Amino acid sequence: MKSEADHAVAIREVLEIYAEWQRRPIRRNCTGVADCCRFRLVGHTPYLTKGEALVAARAWKAAGRKEVAVPADGSCPFLHPETGKCRIYDGRPFGCRTHFCAAAGGPASRAEVRDLIQRLEEIDHRLGGKGAVNLTAAVKEVMSPRGKGQS
Ligand code: SF4
Repeated sequence: MKSEADHAVAIREVLEIYAEWQRRPIRRNCTGVADCCRFRLVGHTPYLTKGEALVAARAWKAAGRKEVAVPADGSCPFLHPETGKCRIYDGRPFGCRTHFCAAAGGPASRAEVRDLIQRLEEIDHRLGGKGAVNLTAAVKEVMSPRGKGQS
């Protein structure tokens, strides 16, 4: 069983991993066109670890949301249907920062991200996570009453 304090520590650690990724001198240029967020269209869905799901859920709740609903067109539930912008951009998962998007420079190489992924996996393990899980399912899980404050 994990406490809220355990989750708070994990959230801080995941945000530090994201910050470290941003500090790396690797050219990325996310212009927010959001093509990569239309999962059915691109045929990819990000998978995320439990710590990443906690960060995404925190950002979603900060936007006043209590539930995660899957859009009929198969896009990411966090993509704004009208503006086409990510509604949890600062809390978006690692995969959204490093993979998928050709417009942003294409996927990061494994060597560029290996150590950071390892740290995310260690946090997941400590939280009792199941490894990387489909984005929607992962965030739904940590927002459910069962997922809050425990694992
Ligand atoms: S979390 Fe944001 S950046 Fe990632 S797929 Fe969803 S809308 Fe796109």
